[in-house]
Amino acid sequence: MSSQPVTHADAVPPPAIQEVSRGIHAYIQLDGSWFLNNAGCITGDRDAKLIDTTGTEARAHAWQAAVRSITDLPVTALINTHHHADHTNGNFAWAPNTPIIAHEKCREEVRASRPSRRSPVFPNTDFGNCPATPATITFEDRMAVYVDDLRIELIFMGPAHTTNDIVAWIPERKLLFSGDLVFNGGTPFALFGSIAGWFDALDRLGALGAETIVPGHGAVCGPEVFDTIRGYLGFVRDHARRGFEAGTPPLELAQSLDLGPYAGLCDTERIVGNLHRAYSELRGEPRGAALSLNTIFPEMVAYNGGQPLRCLA
Ligand SMILES: [Zn+2]
Repeated sequence: MSSQPVTHADAVPPPAIQEVSRGIHAYIQLDGSWFLNNAGCITGDRDAKLIDTTGTEARAHAWQAAVRSITDLPVTALINTHHHADHTNGNFAWAPNTPIIAHEKCREEVRASRPSRRSPVFPNTDFGNCPATPATITFEDRMAVYVDDLRIELIFMGPAHTTNDIVAWIPERKLLFSGDLVFNGGTPFALFGSIAGWFDALDRLGALGAETIVPGHGAVCGPEVFDTIRGYLGFVRDHARRGFEAGTPPLELAQSLDLGPYAGLCDTERIVGNLHRAYSELRGEPRGAALSLNTIFPEMVAYNGGQPLRCLA
């Protein structure tokens, strides 16, 4: 089980801008653990479009400054890959001039959220003032946006990591902004979504034929990372089935597990939330059915030896 030390934000490198294809920049916040997510900026001759924001007020302004270091062209759209606060808290910095595009359920989740400066789960992080800023343009299945003639396909892949995951797929460059359907070096987290749905999403992601992936968290990678995610989710599914049949509560099961090859991924306490999601599916509940976050997050803290979850944002 996990007891990663809580270290200071100085322990991680500053965010980095990486040109992953001509005119397309990834904003990488290592080490990719809780609230250290990635974003993107796609520039053309006349405008730029963004993918996701960052999770604290200070990081929202840093991302905005990074965009302005890349381009001084107007930012004509901001795409949210899903509703989680690390990807959407910084929306406020672009409103109201920049339209925000997301899945309809992402808009609903952000609209219902109440971002606060402090979180009991992450007591060492100052989230600042990030007024909830939901999408202004939504879709259900897919849509396309363009930067000049470069086509960016927005495709709904959920429920998987959440109920509202979309990816931004740029076929001309074989480049995928995956949102949190891909954690590179971090533990996949299905508490808000679906284990079964994530397997389906991996099949669909694989069929796209991406050569370069900007994951939701962690370094830029290739499609080989799908194997690790599929393996981890299979590990969760198989142990959950055994524990469910034995009547073992998810936290107790998690504490008994040797994570084996997945012990080195960051944020290992997500195993508890993942088992809760797997149990929900074993009970026959619909994919993405709401679970009690108010009891499950404290169990993740308990798994972590009672220590706050490690958050360096
Ligand atoms: Zn997420």
